[in-house]
Amino acid sequence: MTTSPPSATSSPAAASGAPAGVRGAVASTGPGSSPSSSPSPPSIAPNSTPGLAPLIDVRGLGRSYGSLVAVKDVSFSVGRGEVVGFLGPNGAGKSTTLRMIVGYLGPTTGSVRVNGFDVVEQPLLARKSMGYMPETAPLYPEMRVREYLTFRARLKSIPAKEIRAQVEMALFKAGVTEVVRTLIGTLSRGFRQRVALADALLNNPPLLILDEPTAGLDPNQIHSVRQVIRELGASHTVLLSTHILSEVESTCTRALVIDRGVLVAQGSIAELRRRRGQQRAIVTVYDVRQQALGLMLASEHVLGVTPVGSRPSLVPPASPEDAAAYGADAIVSLQVTFDAGADANTCLEEVVALLVRSGIRVREARLKQSSMEDVFRQLTGADVEAS
Ligand code: ADP
Repeated sequence: MTTSPPSATSSPAAASGAPAGVRGAVASTGPGSSPSSSPSPPSIAPNSTPGLAPLIDVRGLGRSYGSLVAVKDVSFSVGRGEVVGFLGPNGAGKSTTLRMIVGYLGPTTGSVRVNGFDVVEQPLLARKSMGYMPETAPLYPEMRVREYLTFRARLKSIPAKEIRAQVEMALFKAGVTEVVRTLIGTLSRGFRQRVALADALLNNPPLLILDEPTAGLDPNQIHSVRQVIRELGASHTVLLSTHILSEVESTCTRALVIDRGVLVAQGSIAELRRRRGQQRAIVTVYDVRQQALGLMLASEHVLGVTPVGSRPSLVPPASPEDAAAYGADAIVSLQVTFDAGADANTCLEEVVALLVRSGIRVREARLKQSSMEDVFRQLTGADVEAS
Protein backbone atom coordinates (compact mmCIF):
# COMPACT_ATOMS: atom_id res chain seq x y z
CA MET A 1 0.00 0.00 0.00
CA THR A 2 0.87 3.61 -0.09
CA THR A 3 3.90 4.60 1.85
CA SER A 4 5.48 7.99 1.97
CA PRO A 5 7.58 8.84 -1.03
CA PRO A 6 11.18 9.24 0.11
CA SER A 7 11.16 12.91 -0.71
CA ALA A 8 8.16 13.41 1.54
CA THR A 9 9.69 11.90 4.60
CA SER A 10 13.40 12.18 4.38
CA SER A 11 14.05 15.81 5.19
CA PRO A 12 13.25 17.36 8.51
CA ALA A 13 11.42 20.62 8.45
CA ALA A 14 13.65 23.56 7.77
CA ALA A 15 13.27 26.65 9.82
CA SER A 16 14.43 29.38 7.56
CA GLY A 17 14.36 30.68 4.09
CA ALA A 18 10.63 31.09 3.62
CA PRO A 19 9.82 34.23 1.74
CA ALA A 20 8.20 36.45 4.32
CA GLY A 21 4.54 36.76 3.59
CA VAL A 22 2.93 40.09 4.08
CA ARG A 23 -0.55 41.35 4.39
CA GLY A 24 -2.10 41.38 0.99
CA ALA A 25 0.39 38.91 -0.42
CA VAL A 26 -2.51 36.68 -1.34
CA ALA A 27 -4.12 38.61 -4.12
CA SER A 28 -7.83 38.56 -4.51
CA THR A 29 -9.24 36.76 -7.52
CA GLY A 30 -12.90 37.14 -6.74
CA PRO A 31 -15.55 34.50 -6.41
CA GLY A 32 -15.83 31.92 -9.10
CA SER A 33 -12.31 32.39 -10.37
CA SER A 34 -10.87 29.28 -11.82
CA PRO A 35 -7.71 27.76 -10.37
CA SER A 36 -5.79 28.77 -13.44
CA SER A 37 -6.78 32.39 -13.04
CA SER A 38 -5.57 32.51 -9.43
CA PRO A 39 -2.26 34.18 -8.73
CA SER A 40 0.82 32.13 -8.04
CA PRO A 41 0.98 30.97 -4.44
CA PRO A 42 2.80 33.65 -2.47
CA SER A 43 5.38 31.33 -1.01
CA ILE A 44 6.64 27.87 -1.61
CA ALA A 45 8.05 25.80 1.19
CA PRO A 46 11.58 26.68 2.25
CA ASN A 47 12.69 23.11 1.77
CA SER A 48 10.57 22.14 -1.21
CA THR A 49 12.34 19.72 -3.44
CA PRO A 50 12.85 21.30 -6.84
CA GLY A 51 10.69 19.64 -9.44
CA LEU A 52 8.17 18.29 -6.96
CA ALA A 53 4.77 19.89 -6.57
CA PRO A 54 3.93 21.22 -3.12
CA LEU A 55 2.16 18.66 -0.97
CA ILE A 56 -0.75 21.07 -0.47
CA ASP A 57 -1.66 23.62 -3.10
CA VAL A 58 -4.68 25.77 -2.25
CA ARG A 59 -5.88 28.33 -4.77
CA GLY A 60 -8.63 30.90 -4.46
CA LEU A 61 -10.42 28.71 -1.92
CA GLY A 62 -13.73 29.96 -0.61
CA ARG A 63 -16.68 28.58 1.31
CA SER A 64 -20.00 30.13 2.25
CA TYR A 65 -22.64 28.86 4.64
CA GLY A 66 -25.76 30.52 3.29
CA SER A 67 -25.02 34.23 3.38
CA LEU A 68 -22.01 33.82 5.69
CA VAL A 69 -18.68 33.83 3.88
CA ALA A 70 -16.57 31.64 6.21
CA VAL A 71 -13.49 31.41 3.94
CA LYS A 72 -12.69 33.89 1.20
CA ASP A 73 -10.22 33.50 -1.64
CA VAL A 74 -7.49 31.75 0.32
CA SER A 75 -4.32 30.68 -1.52
CA PHE A 76 -1.22 29.04 -0.06
CA SER A 77 0.99 26.04 -0.47
CA VAL A 78 2.76 23.71 1.92
CA GLY A 79 5.98 22.06 0.83
CA ARG A 80 7.24 18.61 1.69
CA GLY A 81 8.79 18.42 5.14
CA GLU A 82 7.25 21.62 6.48
CA VAL A 83 5.36 21.90 9.77
CA VAL A 84 2.95 24.76 9.19
CA GLY A 85 0.66 26.38 11.73
CA PHE A 86 -2.71 27.63 10.57
CA LEU A 87 -3.31 30.34 13.12
CA GLY A 88 -6.41 32.36 13.81
CA PRO A 89 -8.99 33.18 16.46
CA ASN A 90 -12.11 31.09 16.93
CA GLY A 91 -14.46 31.44 14.00
CA ALA A 92 -11.70 32.59 11.62
CA GLY A 93 -12.34 29.76 9.17
CA LYS A 94 -9.61 27.30 10.11
CA SER A 95 -11.73 24.17 10.43
CA THR A 96 -13.67 25.04 7.31
CA THR A 97 -10.43 25.37 5.33
CA LEU A 98 -8.98 22.14 6.71
CA ARG A 99 -12.19 20.25 6.00
CA MET A 100 -12.04 21.43 2.40
CA ILE A 101 -8.40 20.33 2.14
CA VAL A 102 -9.24 16.82 3.34
CA GLY A 103 -12.24 16.70 1.03
CA TYR A 104 -14.95 16.53 3.73
CA LEU A 105 -16.47 19.79 2.58
CA GLY A 106 -16.88 21.02 -0.96
CA PRO A 107 -15.48 24.47 -1.74
CA THR A 108 -17.72 27.24 -3.04
CA THR A 109 -14.80 28.63 -5.04
CA GLY A 110 -11.26 27.62 -5.86
CA SER A 111 -9.39 24.34 -5.68
CA VAL A 112 -7.16 22.18 -3.50
CA ARG A 113 -4.53 19.76 -4.71
CA VAL A 114 -2.89 17.33 -2.33
CA ASN A 115 0.20 15.55 -3.56
CA GLY A 116 -0.79 16.69 -7.02
CA PHE A 117 -4.33 15.30 -6.87
CA ASP A 118 -7.43 17.49 -6.94
CA VAL A 119 -9.41 16.71 -3.78
CA VAL A 120 -12.76 17.14 -5.54
CA GLU A 121 -11.96 15.38 -8.81
CA GLN A 122 -9.59 12.69 -7.50
CA PRO A 123 -10.67 12.34 -3.84
CA LEU A 124 -9.47 8.77 -3.27
CA LEU A 125 -6.00 9.44 -4.62
CA ALA A 126 -5.75 12.72 -2.69
CA ARG A 127 -6.89 11.11 0.59
CA LYS A 128 -4.28 8.36 0.35
CA SER A 129 -1.63 11.01 0.95
CA MET A 130 -3.08 12.46 4.13
CA GLY A 131 -4.20 11.65 7.61
CA TYR A 132 -6.75 13.94 9.26
CA MET A 133 -7.36 14.54 12.92
CA PRO A 134 -10.53 16.54 13.44
CA GLU A 135 -10.91 18.79 16.49
CA THR A 136 -13.30 16.30 18.06
CA ALA A 137 -12.59 12.87 16.67
CA PRO A 138 -15.57 10.49 16.53
CA LEU A 139 -14.01 7.77 18.68
CA TYR A 140 -16.01 4.78 19.93
CA PRO A 141 -15.89 4.82 23.74
CA GLU A 142 -16.86 1.16 24.09
CA MET A 143 -13.89 -0.04 22.01
CA ARG A 144 -10.36 -0.67 23.23
CA VAL A 145 -7.58 1.35 21.66
CA ARG A 146 -5.93 -1.33 19.53
CA GLU A 147 -9.30 -2.80 18.59
CA TYR A 148 -10.49 0.62 17.45
CA LEU A 149 -7.40 1.30 15.34
CA THR A 150 -7.63 -2.15 13.76
CA PHE A 151 -11.24 -1.40 12.89
CA ARG A 152 -10.24 1.96 11.42
CA ALA A 153 -7.42 0.35 9.41
CA ARG A 154 -9.98 -1.97 7.81
CA LEU A 155 -12.25 0.97 7.02
CA LYS A 156 -9.31 2.65 5.34
CA SER A 157 -8.87 -0.42 3.13
CA ILE A 158 -5.41 -1.23 4.39
CA PRO A 159 -4.67 -4.79 3.20
CA ALA A 160 -5.28 -7.41 5.91
CA LYS A 161 -1.66 -8.53 6.01
CA GLU A 162 -0.46 -4.98 6.67
CA ILE A 163 -3.00 -3.98 9.29
CA ARG A 164 -1.16 -5.28 12.31
CA ALA A 165 2.12 -3.56 11.44
CA GLN A 166 0.34 -0.34 10.53
CA VAL A 167 -1.58 -0.29 13.81
CA GLU A 168 1.57 -0.93 15.85
CA MET A 169 3.44 1.80 13.95
CA ALA A 170 0.62 4.28 14.56
CA LEU A 171 0.36 3.33 18.26
CA PHE A 172 4.08 3.84 18.66
CA LYS A 173 4.33 7.13 16.78
CA ALA A 174 1.35 8.63 18.61
CA GLY A 175 2.70 7.49 21.99
CA VAL A 176 -0.24 5.33 23.02
CA THR A 177 1.40 1.91 23.36
CA GLU A 178 0.75 1.90 27.11
CA VAL A 179 -3.04 2.05 26.72
CA VAL A 180 -3.62 -0.39 23.85
CA ARG A 181 -6.03 -2.49 25.92
CA THR A 182 -7.82 0.40 27.61
CA LEU A 183 -11.42 1.27 26.80
CA ILE A 184 -11.42 4.55 24.89
CA GLY A 185 -14.26 5.86 27.05
CA THR A 186 -12.05 5.68 30.14
CA LEU A 187 -9.08 7.54 28.62
CA SER A 188 -8.19 11.12 29.51
CA ARG A 189 -8.78 13.71 26.79
CA GLY A 190 -5.03 13.87 26.21
CA PHE A 191 -4.88 10.17 25.41
CA ARG A 192 -8.04 10.32 23.32
CA GLN A 193 -6.39 13.03 21.23
CA ARG A 194 -3.40 10.77 20.76
CA VAL A 195 -5.62 7.88 19.71
CA ALA A 196 -7.14 10.23 17.12
CA LEU A 197 -3.61 11.08 16.05
CA ALA A 198 -2.78 7.38 15.74
CA ASP A 199 -5.85 7.04 13.53
CA ALA A 200 -4.52 9.82 11.27
CA LEU A 201 -1.16 8.03 11.12
CA LEU A 202 -2.57 4.73 9.85
CA ASN A 203 -1.08 3.93 6.47
CA ASN A 204 1.78 6.31 7.22
CA PRO A 205 0.56 9.21 5.05
CA PRO A 206 3.16 11.83 4.10
CA LEU A 207 0.79 14.62 5.18
CA LEU A 208 -0.94 15.10 8.54
CA ILE A 209 -3.75 17.62 8.93
CA LEU A 210 -4.43 18.31 12.60
CA ASP A 211 -7.34 20.51 13.67
CA GLU A 212 -6.67 22.16 17.04
CA PRO A 213 -4.75 19.13 18.33
CA THR A 214 -4.33 20.49 21.86
CA ALA A 215 -7.79 22.02 22.36
CA GLY A 216 -9.23 21.21 25.76
CA LEU A 217 -6.06 19.64 27.15
CA ASP A 218 -4.40 20.50 30.47
CA PRO A 219 -0.88 21.99 30.42
CA ASN A 220 0.87 18.63 30.88
CA GLN A 221 -1.16 17.02 28.12
CA ILE A 222 -0.52 20.01 25.86
CA HIS A 223 3.20 19.66 26.43
CA SER A 224 3.24 15.96 25.58
CA VAL A 225 1.01 16.28 22.50
CA ARG A 226 3.21 19.13 21.20
CA GLN A 227 6.24 16.94 21.77
CA VAL A 228 4.65 14.15 19.71
CA ILE A 229 3.87 16.63 16.92
CA ARG A 230 7.45 17.91 16.90
CA GLU A 231 8.69 14.33 16.55
CA LEU A 232 6.22 13.64 13.76
CA GLY A 233 7.51 16.72 11.96
CA ALA A 234 10.77 14.90 11.31
CA SER A 235 9.06 12.35 9.08
CA HIS A 236 5.77 13.94 8.01
CA THR A 237 4.57 17.19 6.55
CA VAL A 238 2.16 18.72 9.05
CA LEU A 239 -0.52 21.39 8.75
CA LEU A 240 -2.07 22.11 12.14
CA SER A 241 -4.64 24.67 13.13
CA THR A 242 -4.60 26.55 16.40
CA HIS A 243 -5.75 29.78 17.99
CA ILE A 244 -2.68 29.84 20.23
CA LEU A 245 0.34 31.74 18.99
CA SER A 246 2.75 29.92 21.32
CA GLU A 247 1.62 26.61 19.85
CA VAL A 248 2.80 27.71 16.44
CA GLU A 249 6.02 29.04 17.92
CA SER A 250 6.78 25.81 19.72
CA THR A 251 5.88 23.32 17.01
CA CYS A 252 5.95 24.95 13.57
CA THR A 253 8.45 26.29 11.08
CA ARG A 254 6.01 28.60 9.33
CA ALA A 255 2.64 30.16 10.00
CA LEU A 256 -0.37 31.06 7.93
CA VAL A 257 -2.58 33.59 9.67
CA ILE A 258 -6.28 33.70 8.95
CA ASP A 259 -8.74 36.27 10.21
CA ARG A 260 -12.44 36.43 9.35
CA GLY A 261 -11.96 34.00 6.49
CA VAL A 262 -9.09 35.90 4.89
CA LEU A 263 -5.43 34.93 4.89
CA VAL A 264 -3.85 38.05 6.38
CA ALA A 265 -0.21 36.99 6.62
CA GLN A 266 2.22 34.17 6.27
CA GLY A 267 5.86 33.77 7.05
CA SER A 268 8.46 32.02 9.12
CA ILE A 269 8.13 31.99 12.89
CA ALA A 270 11.01 34.47 13.15
CA GLU A 271 9.07 36.82 10.88
CA LEU A 272 5.96 36.39 13.00
CA ARG A 273 7.94 37.18 16.15
CA ARG A 274 9.25 40.36 14.59
CA ARG A 275 5.74 41.32 13.68
CA ARG A 276 4.60 40.68 17.21
CA GLY A 277 6.75 43.64 18.20
CA GLN A 278 7.97 44.59 21.60
CA GLN A 279 7.96 42.00 24.33
CA ARG A 280 7.18 42.89 27.90
CA ALA A 281 7.97 41.33 31.23
CA ILE A 282 6.89 41.89 34.80
CA VAL A 283 9.68 41.88 37.36
CA THR A 284 8.90 42.01 41.08
CA VAL A 285 11.83 42.94 43.30
CA TYR A 286 12.72 43.76 46.87
CA ASP A 287 13.96 47.24 45.97
CA VAL A 288 15.08 48.63 49.33
CA ARG A 289 17.31 51.35 47.84
CA GLN A 290 15.08 52.02 44.80
CA GLN A 291 17.79 51.10 42.33
CA ALA A 292 16.01 48.50 40.22
CA LEU A 293 14.38 50.81 37.70
CA GLY A 294 17.62 52.62 36.88
CA LEU A 295 19.61 49.42 36.62
CA MET A 296 17.13 47.80 34.29
CA LEU A 297 16.94 50.88 32.07
CA ALA A 298 20.70 50.68 31.59
CA SER A 299 20.47 47.08 30.45
CA GLU A 300 20.96 46.31 26.76
CA HIS A 301 17.72 45.72 24.79
CA VAL A 302 15.57 47.37 27.48
CA LEU A 303 13.50 50.15 25.94
CA GLY A 304 11.54 51.17 28.98
CA VAL A 305 10.66 50.38 32.60
CA THR A 306 7.47 51.50 34.27
CA PRO A 307 5.97 50.71 37.64
CA VAL A 308 2.88 48.55 37.27
CA GLY A 309 -0.16 50.76 37.82
CA SER A 310 -0.07 54.52 38.24
CA ARG A 311 2.36 54.29 41.17
CA PRO A 312 4.73 51.59 42.31
CA SER A 313 2.65 48.55 43.00
CA LEU A 314 3.05 47.38 46.54
CA VAL A 315 3.11 43.63 46.58
CA PRO A 316 2.49 41.82 49.87
CA PRO A 317 5.65 40.23 51.25
CA ALA A 318 5.98 36.56 50.39
CA SER A 319 6.54 35.60 54.04
CA PRO A 320 6.66 37.15 57.53
CA GLU A 321 10.46 36.92 57.31
CA ASP A 322 10.44 38.99 54.12
CA ALA A 323 8.10 41.51 55.71
CA ALA A 324 10.47 41.89 58.62
CA ALA A 325 13.57 42.05 56.42
CA TYR A 326 12.39 44.40 53.70
CA GLY A 327 9.13 46.03 54.75
CA ALA A 328 6.12 46.05 52.47
CA ASP A 329 7.07 49.37 50.82
CA ALA A 330 10.25 47.90 49.39
CA ILE A 331 8.49 45.36 47.19
CA VAL A 332 7.56 46.68 43.75
CA SER A 333 6.47 45.32 40.39
CA LEU A 334 7.92 46.86 37.27
CA GLN A 335 7.00 46.37 33.64
CA VAL A 336 10.02 46.07 31.36
CA THR A 337 9.78 46.55 27.59
CA PHE A 338 12.37 44.86 25.42
CA ASP A 339 13.60 45.59 21.94
CA ALA A 340 11.42 43.74 19.38
CA GLY A 341 14.41 42.26 17.58
CA ALA A 342 15.87 40.59 20.67
CA ASP A 343 14.89 37.29 22.20
CA ALA A 344 12.80 38.29 25.19
CA ASN A 345 13.67 35.20 27.27
CA THR A 346 17.38 35.96 27.04
CA CYS A 347 16.79 39.66 27.75
CA LEU A 348 14.81 38.81 30.87
CA GLU A 349 17.50 36.43 32.08
CA GLU A 350 20.10 39.16 31.61
CA VAL A 351 18.02 41.70 33.51
CA VAL A 352 17.52 39.30 36.42
CA ALA A 353 21.23 38.46 36.50
CA LEU A 354 22.06 42.19 36.57
CA LEU A 355 19.69 42.81 39.48
CA VAL A 356 21.03 39.86 41.43
CA ARG A 357 24.63 40.95 40.84
CA SER A 358 23.66 44.34 42.24
CA GLY A 359 22.34 42.78 45.42
CA ILE A 360 18.65 43.17 44.58
CA ARG A 361 16.51 40.17 45.39
CA VAL A 362 14.10 39.21 42.61
CA ARG A 363 10.87 37.72 43.79
CA GLU A 364 9.31 37.03 40.42
CA ALA A 365 10.15 37.61 36.75
CA ARG A 366 7.83 36.55 33.98
CA LEU A 367 7.29 37.40 30.35
CA LYS A 368 3.92 38.86 29.41
CA GLN A 369 2.55 36.91 26.49
CA SER A 370 1.52 39.03 23.58
CA SER A 371 -2.13 38.36 23.09
CA MET A 372 -3.50 37.20 19.77
CA GLU A 373 -5.28 40.51 19.62
CA ASP A 374 -1.97 42.38 19.67
CA VAL A 375 -0.58 40.15 16.95
CA PHE A 376 -3.64 40.53 14.84
CA ARG A 377 -3.63 44.26 15.25
CA GLN A 378 -0.14 44.24 13.83
CA LEU A 379 -0.82 41.74 11.09
CA THR A 380 -3.88 43.58 9.91
CA GLY A 381 -2.15 46.95 10.02
CA ALA A 382 -4.19 48.55 12.78
CA ASP A 383 -2.72 50.53 15.67
CA VAL A 384 -0.16 48.28 17.30
CA GLU A 385 0.30 50.40 20.39
CA ALA A 386 -3.33 50.34 21.38
CA SER A 387 -2.92 47.51 23.92
P1 ADP B 1 -12.49 28.15 13.21
O1 ADP B 1 -12.14 26.74 12.93
O2 ADP B 1 -11.43 29.12 12.84
O3 ADP B 1 -12.96 28.36 14.62
P2 ADP B 1 -14.77 27.64 11.50
O4 ADP B 1 -14.22 27.27 10.18
O5 ADP B 1 -15.25 26.56 12.38
O6 ADP B 1 -13.71 28.56 12.27
O7 ADP B 1 -15.97 28.65 11.29
C1 ADP B 1 -15.87 29.80 10.44
C2 ADP B 1 -17.21 30.48 10.43
O8 ADP B 1 -18.15 29.64 9.79
C3 ADP B 1 -17.77 30.78 11.80
O9 ADP B 1 -18.47 32.00 11.74
C4 ADP B 1 -18.73 29.63 12.05
O10 ADP B 1 -19.76 30.02 12.92
C5 ADP B 1 -19.24 29.35 10.64
N1 ADP B 1 -19.61 27.95 10.43
C6 ADP B 1 -18.79 26.89 10.56
N2 ADP B 1 -19.44 25.74 10.26
C7 ADP B 1 -20.70 26.10 9.90
C8 ADP B 1 -21.86 25.37 9.49
N3 ADP B 1 -21.83 24.05 9.34
N4 ADP B 1 -22.97 26.08 9.22
C9 ADP B 1 -22.99 27.42 9.34
N5 ADP B 1 -21.94 28.17 9.72
C10 ADP B 1 -20.81 27.52 10.01
